[in-house]
Amino acid sequence: GYSVYKVADPVMRFVSGFSTASNSVKRLAGKVAVITGGASGIGKATAKEFIENGAKVIMADVQDDLGHSAAAELGPDASYTRCDVSDETQVAAAVDLAVKRHGHLDILYNNAGVMGTMPQDDMASVDLANFDRIMAINARAALVGIKHAARVMSPRRSGVILCTASDTGIMPIPNIALYAVSKATTIAIVRAAAEPLSRHGLRVNAISPHGTRTAMMMHVVSQMYPGVSKDDLEKMADTAMDAGAVMEPEYVARAALYLASDEAKYVNGHNLVRLAGKVAVITGAA
Ligand code: NAD
Repeated sequence: GYSVYKVADPVMRFVSGFSTASNSVKRLAGKVAVITGGASGIGKATAKEFIENGAKVIMADVQDDLGHSAAAELGPDASYTRCDVSDETQVAAAVDLAVKRHGHLDILYNNAGVMGTMPQDDMASVDLANFDRIMAINARAALVGIKHAARVMSPRRSGVILCTASDTGIMPIPNIALYAVSKATTIAIVRAAAEPLSRHGLRVNAISPHGTRTAMMMHVVSQMYPGVSKDDLEKMADTAMDAGAVMEPEYVARAALYLASDEAKYVNGHNLVRLAGKVAVITGAA
């Protein structure tokens, strides 16, 4: 069963009110964005939110079929490009593609991420190859993205860089110690980059979601409960959603919209921690 503990979260309530679909203000009119990990989950939801707000979005990912169909679904302002964020050349190419195709880049969202294999908290047998891969995609790629975004944004003295970190980067939870290290590093990279880039007119911010219902979350839950059927895992996710412990990716997308927009003109080097309203501690199998 579940034990559910309430966590006060005024920030989440504040930003959840930043709903956009209900009004006609285009907060990103004329803007161009590249979103890594854009083929699914938080990245795809953010691409949709940005496009509804007037942006053109290049979704960069390694899941080509999913990426092409997501771009087709989101319409003519969306496009897909293959980009493995662990390879600097490919990140540079995605940034250059935005400039070539749309004339400039206004927003880079370093959102691609992996959980890696689990469990990760047996320190006596910690898998360093797993650690290296997690760090390359979740943490190093944030710095690589910042580097190449800064290269094209600094001359224009305008641009916003966002990175998806995680609340586990602040408070590690069982089983995912290495992932938590990568996300803490992402937060540190954002803090390190924000002040120097502010001198060039750029802003850099992190978003640290709590549990969000995406393919990654289901992958984590399936590794935590290896014997449980897919149907039962989905039911567990439903229960966690009903309890307010897990949120839809659209809420993270709204936080990204806020940080990318001029509403957040003076928000720099910030880590926007988005907890769902409650934290569910799953104490036993379904
Ligand atoms: P997701 O699995 O739906 O999306 C992640 C995307 O990243 C996938 O489309 C995947 O193909 C892509 N990706 C993986 N490796 C890549 C690489 N090397 N190059 C380019 N793309 C790559 O999961 P999500 O939950 O939407 O994840 C998005 C981000 O949110 C991740 O950084 C994740 O760590 C973070 N996050 C998720 C949660 C959650 O509960 N779902 C909570 C906190 C943070």
